[in-house]
Amino acid sequence: CSQQATEDQLPRYVRVNVLKTTMEDVIDYLKREGFSYKGKATSLDNLHSLAAKSFLCDMHLPDLLVFPPKTDFHAHFLYQAGHIILQDKASCLPAYLLNPPPGAQVLDACAAPGNKTSHLAAIMGNKGKLFAFDLDAKRLSTMSTLLLRAGVTCQQLANQDFLKVDPESSQYSGVEYILLDPSCSGSGMVCLHDRTPAPPEEETSRLQALAAFQLRCLNHALRFPNLQRVVYSTCSIHKQENEEVVTACLKENQGYRLVHLLPTWPERGLAPLTQCLRASTTKTLTQGFFVAVLERRSPGAKDDT
Ligand code: SAM
Repeated sequence: CSQQATEDQLPRYVRVNVLKTTMEDVIDYLKREGFSYKGKATSLDNLHSLAAKSFLCDMHLPDLLVFPPKTDFHAHFLYQAGHIILQDKASCLPAYLLNPPPGAQVLDACAAPGNKTSHLAAIMGNKGKLFAFDLDAKRLSTMSTLLLRAGVTCQQLANQDFLKVDPESSQYSGVEYILLDPSCSGSGMVCLHDRTPAPPEEETSRLQALAAFQLRCLNHALRFPNLQRVVYSTCSIHKQENEEVVTACLKENQGYRLVHLLPTWPERGLAPLTQCLRASTTKTLTQGFFVAVLERRSPGAKDDT
């Protein structure tokens, strides 16, 4: 793996949970505690040079604060009370880019432990319906605690295989937005970089199996009859789990196209999928990540992107 930074060298990103508080209140609270607020970042260099006990607003994502590496909020009141969520910047991209309006019906296909679900609920102002599935009962139970602390009330959790959820069921006829963040190799997570790598043949077959699962999930998501937009994300740096999955899916689903995401984001999907985003410790000062947004083509549209 070519990524150099360790988790201890990445900025500490803090998402302000607007279901419980506001950016202004959190900034004021922290200033009263002796933190020094430096305004909105204008370049990634600002993040590199943050002094201890100082913080910035992020330059790409709203409701996101940036602190120096190793700033620990686990015992802090704002974290314990669910006013702030400790979430890497890259992992805030999917819900932000899906951007479901208040009142929407949204499905989070592989949801636990739920940071992206809680982010979706915040964007929706807790208005609408948020169906969230996960196969793992233990992770789902952690998720219930997390959502309770975050003040999320619009969710309907189910311990269910997303691939067995029936898109034709009348329950889901109003679903227009899907967030799909399926199990992946985790090769972008810097905390996993010290692991002894599996033998190459094992790694190859693991990646093949993951990519096949991810493609099945993405194809399944596109079967929901009223779907307008789906965000697909992984914390993998492998093309096989990212651009190749999206390319294969678009080939099978020509009624969907890629959305060109955040023009100011510094790292793009591998060519030709430059509409998508990648993230890395070196270019975006985050964990390694991939995000694509697929949107239903309007009937008769000629756009072939
Ligand atoms: N989106 C989550 C978040 O932001 O907190 C992280 C999701 S994690 C990358 C992938 C999740 O998919 C795991 O919790 C795993 O249990 C779940 N999963 C795996 N296969 C699944 C399936 N067929 N249906 C539903 N969930 C599944």
